[in-house]
Amino acid sequence: MNTTATAAAAATAATPAVRAVQVHKAYGSLHVLKGVDLTVAPGTVTVMLGPSGSGKSTFLRLINQLETLTGGSIEVDGELIGYRHVTKNGRDMLQTLDDREIAAQRAKLGMVFQRFNLFPHMTALENVMEAPIHVKGMKKAEARELAMAELERVGLGERAGHYPAELSGGQQQRVAIARALAMKPDIMLFDEPTSALDPELVGEVLNVMRSLADEGMTMIVVTHEIGFAREVADQIVFMADGVVVEKGGPEIIDNPTEPRFKDFLQHVL
Ligand code: ADP
Ligand code: MG
Repeated sequence: MNTTATAAAAATAATPAVRAVQVHKAYGSLHVLKGVDLTVAPGTVTVMLGPSGSGKSTFLRLINQLETLTGGSIEVDGELIGYRHVTKNGRDMLQTLDDREIAAQRAKLGMVFQRFNLFPHMTALENVMEAPIHVKGMKKAEARELAMAELERVGLGERAGHYPAELSGGQQQRVAIARALAMKPDIMLFDEPTSALDPELVGEVLNVMRSLADEGMTMIVVTHEIGFAREVADQIVFMADGVVVEKGGPEIIDNPTEPRFKDFLQHVL
């Protein structure tokens, strides 16, 4: 557990990094999220657990505005996402943000998926340089320096000139993490970042995530890696069928209350 981050979190309880209130999401008649509440303090790690289909990915995608809400609200760094409050004829109303405003909000978040989706025709370094140049308009030389620093941060400085096909799955995922970090996000979202990896490659990716947590990065991590959750998480959230069934500190892993959480843990441990 990251004690510095926990202390920092206690001190800055004022503005959560993420605050989700009664979040609902439906795809047509399929009600996927049914009133999810979650608060993430800055500098802390939240691990989301839950069976397949419980809505974990959907929830991360909502935070990152890859999907739109059906109901409820989400604030990132104290700012409502997707909408602004306006007063019309003395009434408070919500107005949809435009694409540029949404892009600015999304820039606060870095996301890492199960599949790394690196550009195969670009080296590790070029993959990490891509967004700073094309999204932020950074000069090539500056982007190269930044990308090199991020690759070193994930322990891949020596692999910068290699193409994805020349890297292991674990190394590719670390490049994907470096690529997200190069955009200098306030918050990192991880959606089962080790699920597609051979078992012997999982550790190196979890170690990079652990060091990010130690640096004080705010993180929401969907994973089935219970050991990681127990050691690194400040907050554990167990979801099932679109609701948060149980939530608490990492100690709830060894002392679950809800039968569904107990049952889940018996299957993953
Ligand atoms: P988890 O990540 O916990 O496995 P998901 O958020 O991926 O769960 O999915 C939750 C439910 O929403 C599943 O039943 C899934 O089939 C459904 N779902 C996810 N995305 C879509 C979509 N774009 N259209 C329709 N249904 C979807
Ligand atoms: Mg998922």
